[in-house]
Amino acid sequence: MYSEMQKKLGIYIHIPFCRTKCAYCDFYSFIPKTEGIYERYADALIAHMEAYRDAARDRIPDSVYIGGGTPTAMPTDQLIRIIKAVKKNFKLSRNTEFTVEVNPKTADVKTFRRLRRAGVNRISIGLQSADPTELKSLTRTHSRVDFEECFKDARAAKIKNISVDLMFGIPNQSVDSLLRSIDYLTRLHPDHISLYDLKLEEGTPLARMADRFIFPDEDTEFEMYCRAIEMLERRGYKQYEISNFARPGKMSRHNLKYWNCEEYLGFGPGAYSYFNSNRFSFVRNIETYIKGVCDPASQLNITVGLEQISGKAQLGEYIMLGLRLNEGISISEIGRRYGVDFGEFYGKKCEKYIEYGYMIYRGDRVYLTREGMFISNYILSDLLSFEDLGAVSPAGRF
Ligand code: SF4
Repeated sequence: MYSEMQKKLGIYIHIPFCRTKCAYCDFYSFIPKTEGIYERYADALIAHMEAYRDAARDRIPDSVYIGGGTPTAMPTDQLIRIIKAVKKNFKLSRNTEFTVEVNPKTADVKTFRRLRRAGVNRISIGLQSADPTELKSLTRTHSRVDFEECFKDARAAKIKNISVDLMFGIPNQSVDSLLRSIDYLTRLHPDHISLYDLKLEEGTPLARMADRFIFPDEDTEFEMYCRAIEMLERRGYKQYEISNFARPGKMSRHNLKYWNCEEYLGFGPGAYSYFNSNRFSFVRNIETYIKGVCDPASQLNITVGLEQISGKAQLGEYIMLGLRLNEGISISEIGRRYGVDFGEFYGKKCEKYIEYGYMIYRGDRVYLTREGMFISNYILSDLLSFEDLGAVSPAGRF
């Protein structure tokens, strides 16, 4: 039994290994070439979790997310060692949502069975598109058939909660081909679907070669987004966040922690944490990370960007992340948590978005419309550049 006072926590473990590197990807991941790297990395993660055990003693983690990279690019024995270490070092809640990310061709029914027996109850599979030409332009090395085999293997291993990633805005993708991918996917009845807008991230091969491709224009992308939402909702997947859709009761508990500004601890190179009002991440270099964790004599500082989140920044994050959710933000909650009258400080800025149909201010809640979600980056950066929040805090709260 644990008391009401014990806080919930999310745990994220980053596995930076991939079988191939996709042209659009800017996650910290690579194709491992060094002998013994999997074992050394698992050792480092385990030691790092042990080091945080006491700090998290009064927290009850109710979500664990092993992402990457491709966790299943790692030998299953090593992955299981990591899962066991999570369970050993943290007092997981009895109904913890325990997710592992998977790519097609990296896991079979045997792998899924072993993961389930170790405690994994949710799998997130990267499909991205069901169209072979689109998969090729993303340099994904699996086919739709590979994906389907992977999906069915996970179901055969009794994984009851499966999420699948799709993308829109892929070179040469049309509204119809996106809808065909959604049609195909929803016929398999996954529990959760993420639909991301392909972004050209600086420094990636796709960004460097962008002029060789024809990308859908903005109007087409907006039509894709709207038609995709309509189709997903008709098929029983309710949108709850800009890019996320779920069947009833299957929203991602772990990702909701990010959007609700709840605490999470991340382990591994490049992994982020929000813990004890501090945000920080770990160095994006596996060898530095391993050395920093396993060899204290090296005195390597592997923590990057440690920042205490002040009241003002917390409010900014609450608004920025909360407006990603369909239910938006609660005005009374902002008053209670931060002592701020949202209408007084943000009302003027919101007026134009409300007038043009990008935002709705109803009762206690403010939320973005579909049009607003499509341009959410613009709206949020405009809203949060509001420079005078600190100055209007007579109590010096910020
Ligand atoms: S599989 Fe995922 S993490 Fe690996 S390169 Fe592709 S997009 Fe990046």
